[in-house]
Amino acid sequence: MTQSRCAAHPADQAVDTCSRCGNFLCLGCVLKLDGRVYCGECVKRVATEKQPASKLSSWALGLSGLGLLAACIAPFAVASLLGLILGIVVLRQVSQGLVASDGRARAIAAVVAGALGLVAGGISGAYFYFSRLP
Ligand SMILES: [Zn+2]
Ligand SMILES: [Zn+2]
Repeated sequence: MTQSRCAAHPADQAVDTCSRCGNFLCLGCVLKLDGRVYCGECVKRVATEKQPASKLSSWALGLSGLGLLAACIAPFAVASLLGLILGIVVLRQVSQGLVASDGRARAIAAVVAGALGLVAGGISGAYFYFSRLP
């Protein structure tokens, strides 16, 4: 480590490594985001990648949660279906490396909650339907 040189400035000694690409970084190249160390290129990529994944996965989880709540009181599974689809979209984007993986847990939760909401919606829908039959 003591012999390592900055990838961008070979004259300067490296003090840290980028947590994304692993490049050696001198003191002037170290950038921090959410407590992690990145190089200049990676901090840009992480900052731009992070937003859409987090937002989309939050929407997916919100819709799934809403759908699950709604399905318990009324046969209304549209939000669950949307949340389920959004969750799957986020998971596919994460697996393809298109977006940061920080939204992954939320996307999985959204898929599970969406599926549960659909089942609950289906059960309560069937209950409402059959209870109205003469
Ligand atoms: Zn980097
Ligand atoms: Zn440097």
